[in-house]
Amino acid sequence: MRLVFLGPPGVGKGTQARRLAEARGIPHIATGDMLRQVVKSMSAAGRRAQALMERGELVPDHLVIEIVEERFACPDVRKGFILDGFPRTRAQAEALEAILRKQAATLSRVVYFDAPAAVVVERISGRRTCKKCLANFHVTFHPPSKPGICDLCGGDLFQRTDDNEDTLRERLRVYEEQTRELIEYYMRRGLLTRIDAARTPEAVFEELVEAVG
Ligand code: AMP
Repeated sequence: MRLVFLGPPGVGKGTQARRLAEARGIPHIATGDMLRQVVKSMSAAGRRAQALMERGELVPDHLVIEIVEERFACPDVRKGFILDGFPRTRAQAEALEAILRKQAATLSRVVYFDAPAAVVVERISGRRTCKKCLANFHVTFHPPSKPGICDLCGGDLFQRTDDNEDTLRERLRVYEEQTRELIEYYMRRGLLTRIDAARTPEAVFEELVEAVG
């Protein structure tokens, strides 16, 4: 199972990817999470990425592609994978094709999570993320049992600096401008399945499992 999860920020790709990856025993490869690790390293590349991420812009293709290439050198991706948040540009989609070609592999499916902008704004503004295991909660729709503490690992919950309304608007603009065209790109290749992601996580997961087989 070699999957790409496509869709606007805050649509629930990460939540669904984590769940499916665990159920199928395949790696969940989230470029946003990987870039936040690079930022923590405080390298020059990390500092440049941080400034762009805080503004809601994309980091340069070459940096993300390098990170994904490195990840694909690990043998666990041979079992399959879920790419979450990559590709986000046409150049990244072409780079992914080249990476897979080298491994004589192809994508099994691209799942497009679709939801109106109002839904993603509401989801992102209440999102809280675990510092330790990166699980997501929501202050209203999925609150943790103890405020500020992750139910899964006991880690502290925090609000991502880019999960605020202003930055989110920019992230949505960037999505429309640079990422949306990938829907058409993968549709033409016969790989795209659209899922209505405006429903509960359980309903979305059910449809996802059916879609990916
Ligand atoms: P995410 O956690 O997927 O919402 O990503 C957070 C931020 O990381 C994005 O707003 C971008 O600044 C950056 N980012 C993540 N994935 C990519 C990518 N594939 N290409 C460029 N920038 C990315």
